[in-house]
Amino acid sequence: MNLILLGPPAAGKGTQAQWILRDFDVVHVSTGDMLRKAIADGTDLGKLAKPLIDAGKLVPDDIVNGIIQEWLRAADPGKGIVFDGFPRTVAQAQALDEMLANVGRKIDAVVSIQVNEQVVVERIGGRWSCPKDGAVYHATNCPPQVIGKCDRCGADLIQRDDDKPEKIVERYKQYLEKTMPLVDYYRAQGTLLPIDGTRDTQAVYGEIQAALATL
Ligand code: AMP
Repeated sequence: MNLILLGPPAAGKGTQAQWILRDFDVVHVSTGDMLRKAIADGTDLGKLAKPLIDAGKLVPDDIVNGIIQEWLRAADPGKGIVFDGFPRTVAQAQALDEMLANVGRKIDAVVSIQVNEQVVVERIGGRWSCPKDGAVYHATNCPPQVIGKCDRCGADLIQRDDDKPEKIVERYKQYLEKTMPLVDYYRAQGTLLPIDGTRDTQAVYGEIQAALATL
């Protein structure tokens, strides 16, 4: 089973990905996590991506397509894949279809988690992330066990630069302009699973789990 998690920033893609990983035989790939690691490692890719990410803009298609192409070459062929944060443009989606066809795979479902701008702003305002392992918490919806510390690795939690309120407006704008057209793209392919993401995360996961079980 190969899935895409689609939705605006703070739709809950990362949280839902963790539960899907727990319950299904899949591996997780997040271009956002890969780019943040490249920044932390100080690679050329990281240097190119940092100013774009900090400004809430998208990294160019050929760069993220290249990252995914390389990742796919090494992916375990016996496991399904959950794509999180990729594709984000129609050009990326077309490239993904081609890359998957080349390795004998296809997208089985696109979980389109829908939340409006007000929810995005509210959720990101309270979001704290682990700079080491990428775990995400929320001050009220999903607090860590010890305030300010990652439950998994104990690192100090941070507010990502691109989660600051002034950046989120630009990220949402990019989502509307560049990523929303993917809803029509995948609806036309017959793989779209629209999910109301405004409810609590467990309820959202219940719906996703039920939908995936029918595939
Ligand atoms: P995320 O953690 O998925 O919200 O991604 C954080 C940032 O990384 C985004 O705001 C973009 O700047 C960049 N990014 C992640 N994935 C992509 C992608 N598929 N295409 C372009 N930029 C991306």
